[in-house]
Amino acid sequence: MSCAICSADTKTTKYQVKPKECSIDICDICLSQIDQPDPQKLDTDHLRCLDNSMWSENVAVQVVVYRLFAKLSDQDKLGMMYLEDETLNWAKQDESHDIHKDAHGVVLNNGDTVTIIKDLPVKGAGFVAKQGLVVKNISLDKSDNSLVLGKINGTAIYLKCSFIKKR
Ligand SMILES: [Zn+2]
Repeated sequence: MSCAICSADTKTTKYQVKPKECSIDICDICLSQIDQPDPQKLDTDHLRCLDNSMWSENVAVQVVVYRLFAKLSDQDKLGMMYLEDETLNWAKQDESHDIHKDAHGVVLNNGDTVTIIKDLPVKGAGFVAKQGLVVKNISLDKSDNSLVLGKINGTAIYLKCSFIKKR
């Protein structure tokens, strides 16, 4: 079996292109690129294979390629891929878009402890969350990856990810 993304003739694994029940056979290297949460650590040499696979007629492959270009922030290639509306919607339902990152790009998880890096007036609560304040046990906002929920002075408030730093 050859990899649906890079066409390497090697051992492949079934990869489900979520949220659909549809899978493609890909090699371990391509899989590691899809699973890599940090865009800085992507293997850009290996991912040159996308220049070929972006023209695949398999929509599941198109979706995966589109998501990888999005992760690479390659706007040119994203613009060159003319996906059908339905395929584009599928491509955008990417779990990795739900990743929350702090001010330094570090991935945040539920239960993390963070430090506030800038004084934040808390609307409605009548106090300022001071720079340097530690907030324990944050929860990630499911609908907005720029926000986490944390408790300050016993009040649950939303914090902007760009104003916090993971400890
Ligand atoms: Zn591959």
